[in-house]
Amino acid sequence: MIARRMALVLVRTIAEARAAVRRAKREGKRVGFVPTMGYLHEGHLRLVDLCRERADYCAVSVFVNPTQFGPGEDYERYPRDLERDRRLLEARGVDLLFAPSVEEMYPEPPLIRFQIEKLADHLCGPRRPGHFPGVLLVVTKLFHILEPDVAVFGQKDLQQLVIVKRLVRDLNFPVEIVAGPTVREPDGLAMSSRNEYLSPEEREKATVLYRALQRAKALVEGGERSAAAVLAAMRDVIERVEGVRLDYVEAVELETLQPVERLEGRVALAVAAFVGPARLIDNLVLDVRDGQVREVPAID
Ligand code: AMP
Repeated sequence: MIARRMALVLVRTIAEARAAVRRAKREGKRVGFVPTMGYLHEGHLRLVDLCRERADYCAVSVFVNPTQFGPGEDYERYPRDLERDRRLLEARGVDLLFAPSVEEMYPEPPLIRFQIEKLADHLCGPRRPGHFPGVLLVVTKLFHILEPDVAVFGQKDLQQLVIVKRLVRDLNFPVEIVAGPTVREPDGLAMSSRNEYLSPEEREKATVLYRALQRAKALVEGGERSAAAVLAAMRDVIERVEGVRLDYVEAVELETLQPVERLEGRVALAVAAFVGPARLIDNLVLDVRDGQVREVPAID
């Protein structure tokens, strides 16, 4: 007999999601999970591929989480198309799609909040106060609902990845966190649902984030170890492009996300910039030791 894959199951309630996962677990399956805000692109779908490599049963959530958006951010206009997402996930062999409503996830305003020490002090943390506490709240809820054995996060959102890894360590969640490399368009632009906001002209300009990171990498490969010099070069690349407004460029130590002066060991170069209506982020993780520079596409 030919073993046929089961079709994707779409559930909207926590009770149905729990029941589906528990059934899979009773069958002895290892459960993998990819949380998303939907409007899926190839970056998300590669995380799904990684999830399927590491688990027997793959669950994906699509939920635009209001608690991680600040006032004046793009919560309302964030792109949404659940039917398209459902088709893409089904074609990629996903077993369960959990797409709850806001009322299902937050029937009453949550009174418990996360406080993050150190890891949210730099990069996006101070620019988006409340963002990472909101991420940890929804990730915790989703982990408790779906009880995954493994969960996959993209390195595109490096600060989120590092903070979630620490959440799991500090609070003893029984889940393995796996990082997926940043998936890029052919011209280097990191894929993002927010690229949807860009006009064709802005889309062209948006490649400047990647170009700044490549410039930084070339300098470090050429022997430059001063963070200030590399960051100045990145700023210079970005400020040359009219219509792009730099939010930050920073060089941080990977474990603590604290700024470094010298680019040695495992360091991340990170950039955020407004291109038209979109706030875009990108980063590069380098391992610099013994005169060797190695890019780390997925941290362990
Ligand atoms: P989002 O839907 O933007 O919340 O992203 C859901 C997950 O997909 C997060 O773990 C992101 O880091 C990851 N992700 C988003 N864009 C990319 C990309 N271009 N490459 C790899 N992972 C990504």
